[in-house]
Amino acid sequence: MSDEMKELKKKLLTTKKNGYDIVSGETMMAVEAYCEGYKAFLDAGKTERLCAAEVIRLAAEKGYRPYERGMEVKEGDKLYYCNRGKAVLLAHIGKEPLSTGTQIAAAHIDAPRLDLKPNPLYEDAEMAFFKTHYYGGIRKYQWVAIPLELHGVVAMKDGSSVSVNIGADPGDPRLVITDLLPHLGAEQSKKPLGSAIPAETLNLLLGSRPIGDEEDSGRVKLAVMKLLNDKYGITEDDFNSAELEAVPAVAACDIGLDRSMIGAYGHDDRVCGYAALKALLDLDKTPAKTAVCVLADKEEIGSDGVTGMQSAAFDTFMEDLCAAQGVALRVCFEKSFCLSADVTAAYDPDFAEVYEKRNSAFLNYGIGLCKYTGARGKSGASDADAETVAYVRRIFDEAGVIWQIAELGKVDAGGGGTVAMYMANRNITTLDAGVPVLSMHAPFETVSKLDCYETYKGIKAVYEAET
Ligand code: MN
Ligand code: MN
Repeated sequence: MSDEMKELKKKLLTTKKNGYDIVSGETMMAVEAYCEGYKAFLDAGKTERLCAAEVIRLAAEKGYRPYERGMEVKEGDKLYYCNRGKAVLLAHIGKEPLSTGTQIAAAHIDAPRLDLKPNPLYEDAEMAFFKTHYYGGIRKYQWVAIPLELHGVVAMKDGSSVSVNIGADPGDPRLVITDLLPHLGAEQSKKPLGSAIPAETLNLLLGSRPIGDEEDSGRVKLAVMKLLNDKYGITEDDFNSAELEAVPAVAACDIGLDRSMIGAYGHDDRVCGYAALKALLDLDKTPAKTAVCVLADKEEIGSDGVTGMQSAAFDTFMEDLCAAQGVALRVCFEKSFCLSADVTAAYDPDFAEVYEKRNSAFLNYGIGLCKYTGARGKSGASDADAETVAYVRRIFDEAGVIWQIAELGKVDAGGGGTVAMYMANRNITTLDAGVPVLSMHAPFETVSKLDCYETYKGIKAVYEAET
């Protein structure tokens, strides 16, 4: 190729690079340090409640205070509001009044899992089990024959609440859902993946050791209930008002001989949740505009409900902040920008047929922008306008953020959604962006460390943007 052609090519054509061809050794040190913090965050918060508690712990360390209605809201204030223990809203009040808008990063901290049914405990064939009801888009065959742990709360009629944790502490027993042996799996193996493991067979094995005499019945169930009563003081009726969640009993770890990736449960979307939180906590000076970090619940089941992104809890918090400065909420929203920080699919060569390679997100190519999500003809997408994408391109490029732009997969191959539309519906300019994930929604998902860090950098640049 002639020099002239090379010049022309460089000037006119896209030159996206693997992030490793861009970052310095110094940056890689920062990537590693960041990812150590992220792994600890994952292990501390395997449910939305535990994650919210960890968020508050980290925020309090950096001087964030719980917001209460009627408090003064002034430049430099660091405030948070926890919605029913499951979602957290944090704000670092900017130099400019809220009438000039806010810079928001909105992620979610719920993840696909198995919830216990309200009447979960039973015995069959002298084994005790919990019935479960899956939460979010799981592939059921992935949840059998793996170690699981149980977290959650049992709310008692007297208003007290008992925290349950089985399987997370060193030396704890784990729970499991059994699978069929291949020797007897001839018929099952002929079924499509989606129906081979029926939801009603996702039953957690709890015990097999009976108490009492051989003529008694239900001895294993009673033995398990006694253990639970000894440890937590609960009875079978108390499961009626409990939220107990089975999640993979696996700690976050490095993946690959080169340790370039992280494998864990719940990257979707704690990987963006952590980035949004850490970026906020790392702001070294008061931002021009108020920086808001939203860590929502219920995204995996449609963002409905009192702790989901569609809840008025967000509007109420923002309206309270605005009221303290004499600003109308609608004025603040109209001028605000939101990065809807949620994961996207990373191109997987083993499943190349569902991706469109020219518009896929690749591992190590940085934070992935998504102009639209949705399915079919963009159904269910907020579809950010071109000006918004240009705005974020500028912010990222000025901050030296490594980024890419992609779609989830091939048109008509499927689809997905995020909280973006619920922010956009509030008259907040919104764009989706997040970390590309391999095996999304599996009990063990994989991301690139470099992409995690670039997502943090990207969100920090959004918070710090002055216009
Ligand atoms: Mn998500
Ligand atoms: Mn998801």
